[in-house]
Amino acid sequence: MTVETPGPAQPCLFCKIVAGDIPTTVVAESENAVAFNDIDPKAPVHALVVPRDHHVNVTELAAADPDLLAELVDLGSRVAGQLADGQFRLIFNNGTRAGQSVFHVHGHVLAGTDLGWTPA
Ligand code: 5GP
Ligand code: ZN
Repeated sequence: MTVETPGPAQPCLFCKIVAGDIPTTVVAESENAVAFNDIDPKAPVHALVVPRDHHVNVTELAAADPDLLAELVDLGSRVAGQLADGQFRLIFNNGTRAGQSVFHVHGHVLAGTDLGWTPA
């Protein structure tokens, strides 16, 4: 099953951030991925881990390049270790009904507090 994504490709917000065309606070980098602070944080640590290359969502990334998905997980772990105690939640919203609003795959790294659970 394919996950619904809106419209044809627009100029991609996170491609622009990765390219440095839109200012953001980068908190960690790896060869193929970047971690930067979410503009609307939901926890003391709320970073987004994104591949430098454009992939639409985590399903597509996992199929196209599983090593890159593993690199995102590793980068998220590194962010949580640098900015918190190393424990973290990693969320990929996959499709509009799951809350995905930016269609360049990104993992939300949430850390730095005791996290609740109210997903819906
Ligand atoms: P989604 O809803 O697609 O899972 O997550 C998109 C995230 O991107 C949201 O948490 C939102 O706050 C964040 N975001 C949207 N626009 C920007 C931006 O221009 N800069 C940064 N750093 N984060 C953004
Ligand atoms: Zn992109």
